[in-house]
Amino acid sequence: MQSNQKRSRPSGTRVAALAVGLALGSTGAALAADAAAPADTVYRGGTIHTIDAHDTLAQAIAIKDGRIAYVGPDAGVQGQIGPATKVIDLKGRTVLPGLIDGHMHPVAGGLDLLKCSLKYEPLTVPQVQERIQKCLDEKPAAGADEWLEVVGWFRYGIIPRGTPVTSATLDALHTKRPIVLHDSFGHSSIANSRALALAGITAQSQDPSGGRIGRGAAGAPDGVLEDAAQELVGEKIPKPTPEQAVAGARAALDAMRRQGVTSFLDAIGNPPDIEAFAAVEKSGGLTARAHFAPLIRPAEVPNVEAARKAVARVAAISRRYDQGGIRPAPSLTVRHVKLFMDGVINAPANTGALLAPYLENHGTASAPKWEPAPRREPEVYFPAPVLAELLIGIARNHMDPHLHTDGDGAVRAALDGVQRLRAALPGDDVRPGFAHCELVDPADYDRFADLNVIPVLSFQWEKPAPDTIEGTINTLGAAREAIIEPAGVLLAKHARIAFGSDWPVDPLDEWFALQVGVTREARAGHSPEYSGRLGSDPGLPQDFVVRAITANAAYELHEDRFIGSLEVGKFADLIVIDRDVEHVAPKDIAATKVLRTVVGGRAVYDSGEL
Ligand SMILES: [Zn+2]
Repeated sequence: MQSNQKRSRPSGTRVAALAVGLALGSTGAALAADAAAPADTVYRGGTIHTIDAHDTLAQAIAIKDGRIAYVGPDAGVQGQIGPATKVIDLKGRTVLPGLIDGHMHPVAGGLDLLKCSLKYEPLTVPQVQERIQKCLDEKPAAGADEWLEVVGWFRYGIIPRGTPVTSATLDALHTKRPIVLHDSFGHSSIANSRALALAGITAQSQDPSGGRIGRGAAGAPDGVLEDAAQELVGEKIPKPTPEQAVAGARAALDAMRRQGVTSFLDAIGNPPDIEAFAAVEKSGGLTARAHFAPLIRPAEVPNVEAARKAVARVAAISRRYDQGGIRPAPSLTVRHVKLFMDGVINAPANTGALLAPYLENHGTASAPKWEPAPRREPEVYFPAPVLAELLIGIARNHMDPHLHTDGDGAVRAALDGVQRLRAALPGDDVRPGFAHCELVDPADYDRFADLNVIPVLSFQWEKPAPDTIEGTINTLGAAREAIIEPAGVLLAKHARIAFGSDWPVDPLDEWFALQVGVTREARAGHSPEYSGRLGSDPGLPQDFVVRAITANAAYELHEDRFIGSLEVGKFADLIVIDRDVEHVAPKDIAATKVLRTVVGGRAVYDSGEL
């Protein structure tokens, strides 16, 4: 249904609704015309956090043609109720706008649910081997050339910490098959010798642009592939068939609606992902508003001229697949472009770009002596002139750049790039999102608000864990370690922080992520070395983490006129939950249960308890 295409002349008696209509353009005019008709659905008797500009609380909400027709006190909703209106008594339960995940990889996440997975668990090397052997043994008929991809490996959680995992680890398994083990962070893979051979990786192979081949004695590859080097093997692995990708998209949507996610950004949204969701949309199964950021790789843009071509390529993808402005029923939007500025700061990858060098152990394992490396590496993946050309080109095509920036060097270079963009196109409503920002130089905190750059943070990382403690403490040094995951300080500097889960880097668990955003503590039952809060950052207030995953993420997606808050005229994307997450004890946020997920007025998930 596309009620935004209905156009009726509003009558003079509907002045209040008309004012809303003018604010929202033609879409609001349809609302004004129907304002006197009863609502389709009314929810009343609840605690409704509207997440509007004033954090207004309401008790009742009325939905008509997929849009919000009323939100306010219970007393005022009576006039919306007609004989056919479905009235739901919330019995004091809490309503929020539908969750908006500003950075995830849904097809990969959905496919991972169907693959050989180590399930993000901290494991010893023998346990890793045992799990992978089990996957091999489950398919005895597989041919010697059939690849085995293993996902969900928590590299930073290896026991004992720092134990190397190389091709030798995988060569010890009983198989002739090529195996590639993917670190859940997505920045490292381990290939067995068979996989290295099939990919043609030898001692003579050069590191690709934006990547690194791990090497042992005499420069021989040791199976470790960082960032773009993963593609050397990746391009030999058969891509998921279109049918598999559709299965991945469906699995992802199922996981999302159970958690209350009603919109998302696919942060490497290339055509195979888009086509998978398009197939689901065609069959009527799309239950979240799908947004895509096609990727421009560093290797595609060796110079400024190539940058122009790359932007033209993604603009063509947008023209081909974008379904036009969003409407109450979920649809496909392709208006973002993804760029990786670096890898990850965590050891042993250390592929994040830093302003000052990583520390290296110049002592021994038992008597370590951590000192700055002789040179700063890696460099950011795009040189400044190329980045500026890309950002300006993206903005001119009415798209928003979405940059992966993990280390303080990548953040600085990206901010510099946006500064050039702002100078070139002053007043342009382009909304750059910077994903992750695990380490930001304090001198750059103010620049997020000044340049209107949105930090898109994965709150679940803001806790003591193998990746944030052992993964950074030695190679970053204590001073930088203390300021990683700078969410609270960025908020204090008025940055408009949005949330992005980065699923499947971690399991999809939005409510746990929101809890960590507040507490900066590990989950109950953690091992003792991960006690206490992470670093010196004050963390985020409870009401703010909700805003980050609703209104601010809607702004990041450039859809805040339509979604992200519960206001008259906006689409009826909302969730009913079993507790008031803005007021429960912070440690109880993770256990939040979604009772109903509503997208464009339609219930797409129901726990059966409402
Ligand atoms: Zn990501």
